[in-house]
Amino acid sequence: MDAEHMGADLENVLFTEEQIQQRLGELAQQVWADYDGKHDDLLLVGVLKGAVMVMADFMRALPGSAAMDWMAVSSYGSGTKSSGVVRILKDLDTDITDKHVLIVEDIIDSGLTLNWIRTNLESRGARSVEICTLLRKPEAAKVEVDTRYVGFDIPPAFVVGYGLDYDEKYRNLRVIGTLAPHVYS
Ligand code: 5GP
Ligand code: MG
Ligand code: MG
Repeated sequence: MDAEHMGADLENVLFTEEQIQQRLGELAQQVWADYDGKHDDLLLVGVLKGAVMVMADFMRALPGSAAMDWMAVSSYGSGTKSSGVVRILKDLDTDITDKHVLIVEDIIDSGLTLNWIRTNLESRGARSVEICTLLRKPEAAKVEVDTRYVGFDIPPAFVVGYGLDYDEKYRNLRVIGTLAPHVYS
């Protein structure tokens, strides 16, 4: 599937490449300032696979060096709803004792997965655990996920692109958008 056809599967473009980069740049400046004096102990933790693009661009927008590590989890749930019961598929390589962990995420929907990950990382002796997500849906506000850094609040529609998939497709789209109905049927 070439880029043109991939783009044609979108109903709406919510965020262009430029809008995404601009917002990530702002978040990076804010994070760097907030972690002043702690940069050497800052560890960015990405959650595979959706956060791959966000991590790459957010990290390069930081004014200085920061360490990075990755986790992969599977969330048990029925259909598209996550249950909050999480299994670790790939754990961190890093000992996070006394680290300032910043979880870098693509999107928070129910927030159940992320709440579990945060509690898990806190129990390992991290000095702090905060969350930076590019996108947040309205559900996330309900379960009170304490998310310090949010790129954009979006409506409760299913979105793809920029790391986000539908059936493992569209992750490599440079924009973020909603899928056209013909893709589902
Ligand atoms: P939560 O536990 O917050 O409900 O689940 C968040 C995860 O569900 C995200 O990391 C992502 O993998 C997936 N997800 C939630 N909403 C969307 C969406 O609109 N589009 C895509 N592609 N994935 C989503
Ligand atoms: Mg994710
Ligand atoms: Mg997915």
